[in-house]
Amino acid sequence: MTPLEFNRRLEGIPVYPAAETHQYDGELVKLASNETPWGPPPRVLEVAQRALEGLNRYPDPEKSLLRRRIAERCDVSPAMVAVGNGSCEILLAAAEAMLEPGAEVVYAWPSFSMYPHLAAMTGARAITVPLDADGRHDLEAMAREVTHATRLVLVCNPNNPTATALPPAEIDALLAGLPRHVAVIVDEAYVEFSTAQDPDESLELVRRHPNLVVLRTFSKVYGLCGLRAGYALGPEGFRLAVDRVRQPFSVNALAQAAAAEALQHQDEVERRVERTAIERLHVESELEGRGLETTDSQANFSWFSLGERDEVEVMRGLAERGMIVRAGSALGQAGWIRVTYGTRQENDRFLAALDEVL
Ligand code: PMP
Repeated sequence: MTPLEFNRRLEGIPVYPAAETHQYDGELVKLASNETPWGPPPRVLEVAQRALEGLNRYPDPEKSLLRRRIAERCDVSPAMVAVGNGSCEILLAAAEAMLEPGAEVVYAWPSFSMYPHLAAMTGARAITVPLDADGRHDLEAMAREVTHATRLVLVCNPNNPTATALPPAEIDALLAGLPRHVAVIVDEAYVEFSTAQDPDESLELVRRHPNLVVLRTFSKVYGLCGLRAGYALGPEGFRLAVDRVRQPFSVNALAQAAAAEALQHQDEVERRVERTAIERLHVESELEGRGLETTDSQANFSWFSLGERDEVEVMRGLAERGMIVRAGSALGQAGWIRVTYGTRQENDRFLAALDEVL
């Protein structure tokens, strides 16, 4: 037992459910964290390598180059771009800047497992709204939960873990009905993978709505999650607020350099999106072919139901075969599994292991 005393909020903060790894003698197939199976393009590695030589200096606190490149790519002013040590850092900073006891944050559930931290760490009240029967956000029900105490509404689009996406027009309608002081953060960590939406559509919403923040990341399609870089597009006041509550050097020099370079390789992004869409079709049709219920995935992972089968046993059977995936019970919906798409070989190994276990 530690003799240390902690503040009273700590007990309420959930422990982030990191993927479990198991004793397994062969090569693990890691399909639990919605990563991409491909390493960074060689040019990104070269730029990161060069940045190593300057590690005796602090990184640029303004993240000028990266913010300028993001701004150019998204056609917004650099003042509207906040960069974080992963998009998670921006989420947590937004909570610290916006929430407090007496304030409310509204989000759907199940959704990204970091969202419960926001209320827990600030003493604000979390209002969760169940997804609909298809695993989609019910924005009308969420809007009904907005009160004078609401500071923040979170919309995960596409949603983690259910992989479903809403058209930007529905988010536009949500924003039209909300009071201006309520910030809406649309978490688009997986937006590039969606074939239902042109990623530029939500950028157009950012230019029109002064209370909208779009959150994106270099961790998914750009394949840089090991370096930690994410960004928010929104009003300048949002960036200034999140910058005030965090340390100035939270985005390291390698992450800034590599992310700025990665943006210059949109042909590679397109190739990854295409390959992911092909794997998505493959995995989804294989799961459906086995009679397993899935949602309509617009992301780089599938969410499927085990029906009457025992989740713990299925997870154990998969782990014994080296398959690391995510159990629904850890994500808010027992009896379901979230599996990230890997290479074709990895996906087929997963499907073969699943056949053995089922
Ligand atoms: N949002 C969602 C919906 C996610 O699934 C993730 C990563 N699992 C993140 C944000 C955070 O990503 P990062 O901090 O690596 O940018």
